[in-house]
Amino acid sequence: MFEALSSKLNGVFDRLRRRGALSEADVTEALREVRVALLEADVALPVVRDLVNKVRERAVGQEVLRSVSPAQQVVKIVNDALVEALGGGEGDDGKRGIDLNAPSPVPILMVGLQGSGKTTTSGKIALRLRTKDRKKVLLASLDVHRPAAQLQLQTLAQQAEVTSLPIVPGQTPIQIAARAMDVGRRELYDVVILDTAGRLAIDEALMEEVAQVKLATNPHETLLVVDAMTGQDAVNTARAFQDKVGVTGIVMTRIDGDARGGAALSMRAVTGAPIKLLGAGEKLDALEDFHPDRIASRILG
Ligand code: GDP
Repeated sequence: MFEALSSKLNGVFDRLRRRGALSEADVTEALREVRVALLEADVALPVVRDLVNKVRERAVGQEVLRSVSPAQQVVKIVNDALVEALGGGEGDDGKRGIDLNAPSPVPILMVGLQGSGKTTTSGKIALRLRTKDRKKVLLASLDVHRPAAQLQLQTLAQQAEVTSLPIVPGQTPIQIAARAMDVGRRELYDVVILDTAGRLAIDEALMEEVAQVKLATNPHETLLVVDAMTGQDAVNTARAFQDKVGVTGIVMTRIDGDARGGAALSMRAVTGAPIKLLGAGEKLDALEDFHPDRIASRILG
């Protein structure tokens, strides 16, 4: 992810560094190129505008242009603006990672479109909670539309060495969720991960079902899984889920592919929800924490 954006921005800043002393016009020209690079990476227009304006305001100050290494200062300002767009900055620390600060069993609801990597991510989170956080995790699939989805989650649970809720045909998603929470309470689980059904596209029926399940389970975290490769569509999907269901965090998958990265940069501004985790491969251990500062360094690296 970010390869093209990164190489374009590096080109802009290399040229800027070679100039030595900078005029306001040099900065304006560089920012015009930054703007184009961000738009080509599929970053949402309002986010691009905001970012470029912020950098311009901070960079054309006399201190920056008169400093010993003005280009380096401009790069730092761009870096800070990227960190902010990615949801970093002051007062944001508590929003990263999964929040388990609630009475056990903590219900976590996984939502998203089919194919986004939702079920795989449920397995990844289960594995991480069991191994890193030493939690007792129960996985339950609420997908009654595709029996294969329930079997898939069962297989993933085996791989992650956590328990999956026994499959009982004929139950509704809400009944399965209630049974999962009941087992969770009786057998003293720390966390119950509820994997909801996805559809190929957003439709009323999907949103209604997810909203009903959310109402019935009152999850502590509602994590939306989106595929970074789908670019602007991922942002539109997130906006729809945020409006109709309400999410507490986003997991962006397939960052191991050649996604342009605009979705990651737009998500926070468009949805208000923080990206909490990144999926970086098909294997169950391919789950990364989301660090805005590290992502910004990766982009400018
Ligand atoms: P769901 O329909 O949303 O539950 O999606 P699945 O979990 O079944 O994932 C669909 C496909 O994407 C599977 O082949 C996964 O192995 C793959 N997948 C999931 N997450 C990632 C990821 O972060 N990177 C890559 N490369 N593949 C992933």
